[in-house]
Amino acid sequence: MSNYDFSEEKQDEIETVAQEIHQLIFQPKLSNPIKTLDVPIVGNLSSSDKLELILEFINIVNNISTDNQLGEDSTGEQTIELLNQCKKVAQRINSSDPSSLGLHPLVYFYTQQGKPKIGSFYGVVSLILHLQETKFWSKLIKVRKDFEWVIWNYDMVPQLVAKKSDALQARELVRDFYLEVINKLSGGIDKKNVITEIRSGDKRFATLKIPKKADTGEIQSKEFSRETKASAFIREALPGWPVCKICGEYLPSRFNSIDHITRKADGGLGTLKNAQLTHPYCNTTYKN
Ligand SMILES: [Zn+2]
Repeated sequence: MSNYDFSEEKQDEIETVAQEIHQLIFQPKLSNPIKTLDVPIVGNLSSSDKLELILEFINIVNNISTDNQLGEDSTGEQTIELLNQCKKVAQRINSSDPSSLGLHPLVYFYTQQGKPKIGSFYGVVSLILHLQETKFWSKLIKVRKDFEWVIWNYDMVPQLVAKKSDALQARELVRDFYLEVINKLSGGIDKKNVITEIRSGDKRFATLKIPKKADTGEIQSKEFSRETKASAFIREALPGWPVCKICGEYLPSRFNSIDHITRKADGGLGTLKNAQLTHPYCNTTYKN
C-alpha cells in the first residue's frame, strides 16, 4: 500500500473492514481434532494462504478476472467499496447482521470427518452471489432443511473439486450443484433421491459417486486418529444441536437471534416464555 497516498482516515477504514472480514471468516481458531461445533468458516490455513483466499474472495465477489482490470485507486475509495462487498457476503453466511442466514459452518464447510473444505467456501460464496442477483433467497429458505441434509449426507464437493483439480476453479460447478439440489427439492423430489435425479439430468454430474459410510479412508490401528476423534465428536454432537425455531435448521454456535414468538406488534412480551432462538435472517423481514 506504500505506493498510495490514502488519507489516514481511509487507511483506518480499510484496516477495520479487512479485520471484520478476517474475523467473520477465520474466527474462532480451529482445534484439531474438532472438539466444539463453534468452528470457523475457513479453517487451518497458513497466513499466506489466508491472504490468498481473501484476495480470491475479493475477486470473485467483485467479478474481477484479471489484475489489470482495476484502475489506480488513488483515494482508497475503490478498495473500501470492494472490501465492503466482501463483508456483505461474509455477513450473509454467518454474523449477527439481520441479513445473516446463519449457515452452520460445520454443515456447510467441513466433511463429516471434520476436514475443512475450501471448495465449499468458494461454492457457497458463488451461490450467495447468484441468489443475491436473482433475488431467490426464498427458494433456498423454503427447502433449506432438506438442502442441508443433502449436502451434509451426500457430500459431493470433494469430487467436484477433484474434477476441476482446484477449489477455486470448481466454484461454479459447486454452485450449479447446489442450485440443482435446490431445484430438485423445490420440484418435490425426495431428499434421498436428489443425487440420483441430478446425475441422470446433467452430464456434468453423471459420474458423481454417493460416498459410502465405509469408505471414509479410516486407518485401521489401535489408536484413534484425529479424523476418527473428530468424526466421533461430530456424530454425537450434531444431531442434538439446537435448531432454528422458524426454519428448523441447525443454528450456528454464535450470532443467533432471539425472536418474539408472539410478535411485539401483536402484544408479545419480552419474556422467556415468548422467546425462541432463530437465525438472524429468519427473525427479520430483511430480504434483500
Ligand atoms: Zn432459520
